[in-house]
Amino acid sequence: MLSMSSLMGTAALMVQSGDAKAAVEWAEHFQKNYRLMTAEEKAEARARLERRYSAEYGKQVSVDTTEAQPGVLMGYALNIRKCIGCRRCVKACVEENNQSRGNKPGERIEWIQVLRMERGEFSKDKMNHGYPEGLGIQVGGNAYTPAGAVLEGQYHYEPEAVPEKDATYMPIACMHCEKPPCVKVCPVRTTYRDPDGVVVIDYNWCIGCRMCMGACPYWARRINVANPVLPKEAMNPVTHYLGNRPRMRGVVEKCHWCLQRSRHSRYPACVEVCPVGARKFGNLLDPESEVSLILARKNVFRLKAELNTFPKFFYFYD
Ligand code: SF4
Ligand code: SF4
Repeated sequence: MLSMSSLMGTAALMVQSGDAKAAVEWAEHFQKNYRLMTAEEKAEARARLERRYSAEYGKQVSVDTTEAQPGVLMGYALNIRKCIGCRRCVKACVEENNQSRGNKPGERIEWIQVLRMERGEFSKDKMNHGYPEGLGIQVGGNAYTPAGAVLEGQYHYEPEAVPEKDATYMPIACMHCEKPPCVKVCPVRTTYRDPDGVVVIDYNWCIGCRMCMGACPYWARRINVANPVLPKEAMNPVTHYLGNRPRMRGVVEKCHWCLQRSRHSRYPACVEVCPVGARKFGNLLDPESEVSLILARKNVFRLKAELNTFPKFFYFYD
C-alpha cells in the first residue's frame, strides 16, 4: 500500500509532468477544503480550473473568487400574491447557473421549484373548528386512517396559460438559513455559511453522502447522480468558484443567490427575469434597501418558521 508521502511525491511528479490532464486531476485530488486554503492556493485552484473549463467548453471561462463584502448580509423577499406561476425564474436559473439539462433520469436539475397549489382560505372561524381540510394537517384519524385530503404542491405542471383559475403559486429554493441544518450535518464541512449570509458548497470537497439533503427542510438541495449534461454552447462562462462553475457527478448543489452576480452588485437571474416583479433582493444591513423596507412595512412570513432555521428568504404580501 502506498503511504501518503509517496502519494504526495507521485503527485508532485505528475504536476510537473507534461500531461496536463493528469496534472490537473492530481492537483485537484490533493486540493484543500476551500475554506482552509491560503490566498495563493485559491489563486492556483482558480487558474487551474479556468484552464480546464476553457479547454473543455471551447470558450474563455472565468472562475471568480470574490469574497463576501463587509457590511453585507444578503436577503430575499418574494411577493406571494404576485407570482403567476410562469416558471421563468426556474429556466433563467438553469441557464445562468449551468444546471444539468439532460433527459434521462437524474440528468435534469432545477434548483427552484414553483409549487402549484389550490387556492384556499384560512379564516379565524375555520380555526375554531380545527384546521380546514386540504392543508395536509390531520384532524382526527391516525396515520393509517387519514381524516382529510393531503394537498401536495405540484411543481411539474404544463398549463395552457398562467395564472390558472383557483391556483396559487409558491416558489421555493434554498432559504439561506441563518441556522442551517444542512451545515450542521455535513461530515466534511464542505458546506458553510459565508459572512454575507450565503450558504455555499465547495464542490471539490463534497463526498456526496446526502446528509445535507436529508437535513434540509426546504427540499433545496440536488445531487448529481449522473454525469451533468451541460452543452458547450449553453455553458455560461462567467462563473464563481462557490457558485455556478460546472459540477461533477456525485456532488450536491443548490441555489447560491448567483454569487457570480450578487458579489458584483447585480441581481440574481431569477430577480431580473420575473415578469411581475415578485422577487426582491438586497442587503438586510442597509435599512434603506428594498428588501429591508419590505420587512419593515409588509406582511411577512418565513416558511416553516417553527423550525428555527431563520431563513433569509421571506415571503410577503401587500
Ligand atoms: S434551505 Fe436547506 S440547503 Fe438552504 S441553508 Fe436552509 S437547510 Fe441549508
Ligand atoms: S418568474 Fe416570477 S411570476 Fe414567474 S414563477 Fe417565478 S416568481 Fe412567479
